[in-house]
Amino acid sequence: MSAPAVVWFRHDLRLSDNPALVAAAATGAPIVPLFILDEEAMGCWRYGGASCWRLHHSLESLADDLAAQGLTLVLRSGPADLALSGLIAQTGATSVFWNRLYEPWAIRRDSEIKTRLRGFGLKVESFNASLLFEPSRLRNAKGEPFRVFTPFWKAILAAPAPDVPLAKPEGMRAGPRASSESIESWKLLPTSPDWAQGLRERWRAGETAALARLAQFCARGATRYAATRDQIAEPGVSLLSPHLHFGEISPRQVWRETLARAGEDGLPFLRQLGWREFCHHLLAANPDLPERPLDKNFERFPWREDEQGFLAWKKGLTGYPLVDAAMRELWRTGYMHNRARMVVGSFLVKHLLLPWRMGEAWFWDTLVDADLANNSCGWQWIAGCGADAAPYFRVFNPILQGEKFDPQGAYVRRNLPELARLDNKFIHRPWEAPDSVLRAAGVKLGETYPLPIVDHLHARTRALSAFESMRAHR
Ligand SMILES: Cc1cc2nc3c(=O)[nH]c(=O)nc-3n(C[C@H](O)[C@H](O)[C@H](O)COP(=O)(O)OP(=O)(O)OC[C@H]3O[C@@H](n4cnc5c(N)ncnc54)[C@H](O)[C@@H]3O)c2cc1C
Repeated sequence: MSAPAVVWFRHDLRLSDNPALVAAAATGAPIVPLFILDEEAMGCWRYGGASCWRLHHSLESLADDLAAQGLTLVLRSGPADLALSGLIAQTGATSVFWNRLYEPWAIRRDSEIKTRLRGFGLKVESFNASLLFEPSRLRNAKGEPFRVFTPFWKAILAAPAPDVPLAKPEGMRAGPRASSESIESWKLLPTSPDWAQGLRERWRAGETAALARLAQFCARGATRYAATRDQIAEPGVSLLSPHLHFGEISPRQVWRETLARAGEDGLPFLRQLGWREFCHHLLAANPDLPERPLDKNFERFPWREDEQGFLAWKKGLTGYPLVDAAMRELWRTGYMHNRARMVVGSFLVKHLLLPWRMGEAWFWDTLVDADLANNSCGWQWIAGCGADAAPYFRVFNPILQGEKFDPQGAYVRRNLPELARLDNKFIHRPWEAPDSVLRAAGVKLGETYPLPIVDHLHARTRALSAFESMRAHR
């Protein structure tokens, strides 16, 4: 019997379109599937609470799918190089296969591991399974990384089509049994308090759920995406982000299926996958993207300190219904619509003048789709300090955004029960409602729902003058 091959699963928790698994299976070697919880390597970017919850369920699902193929998923925690060498010694494996991660901490760690294992004579192969293209593949006319999205997107469209997704390998042989930690021992789920009820109601993890979600979206939403993507209450979006982040589905599968089912009408949706690629492209070219503004002028930005304001923002108690509804949706379900992410992000950095990194950290902890490239890119975009960012002087008006993208107030009512009976006319500006209207809706401002913690026009003026003062000190 040939020596076993270790397939090291990471954020590619699926069996189909999994190049590492396919390559290992093609050798004919018996397979030992492995997942390592290596939080030390992740440093300050170790999994947040919602990601831990999600990872637990993704791994359970992967273990079930592997078991249906006769394979047993091995779980190990601790530094990846030790976990790998332990498993190699235990099983006699002579080859290791994995799909690449593109977080800076992972690139460092994985290249060291690759060199070391190869030095011991092992065969080590790695593949791209989480992006349409390697982040370094596309370059602008000067041969440099792109800084602007539209030409990047044009380069994607002009490039040869992304590879055809690979089928799930058949007839895999199981490697020798190896000891495994139990997933329960990792304590990824919250216990007391159990804050995950809303997450359980909202999400199904795993490859089967991801493929079903894509099929459903292609059947109903993909062709109408351009018209419906900004409706916050009845989202016309795919909700694929946690599946994509944990690799329960690949972007190549999304790309192919969307074009097959929706044709050119699917392009506005695929453009968002283009944004995902762009964020990874930026992170590859700027490994300090999560920590430092791309526009270095912003290192001198006069951010405020405001603990009370930050707390009100996190808890959804700012007095602006759209902001509060979105922040409470985030806490309850681990998700927030993209339009709402922009509005709450703008509110934090412009209305409250709090550093974008505080918002980035809160999203990191609370999002089920928390993703280093997309999150840091999104926050830098909204703060005005990123590549191709919204200009700083664009301050989202949370009242008008609400009236435009949640015109019936359905999103606000769903997430802020205390405003559920408020007249449509005032649902995004309750402080303007006459007493009689508030009374009829059972709303007592300052008691059942807060008054705005900051006046919109005052905040806008203050933000613009902070921006001007930063520019004056260039
Ligand atoms: C401040 C801020 C923080 C964000 N943090 C994250 C994050 O941690 N993880 C994350 O996946 N997305 C993040 N986004 C991007 C975006 O909001 C989410 O990807 C999207 O809301 C997920 O919902 P969906 O799957 O229904 O998206 P759809 O609209 O259906 O889009 C399909 C896919 O394209 C990708 N995508 C869509 N919009 C963007 C975008 N603006 N940037 C990068 N990729 C995009 C996602 O993978 C998404 O699943 C952030 C945006 C902002 C403004």
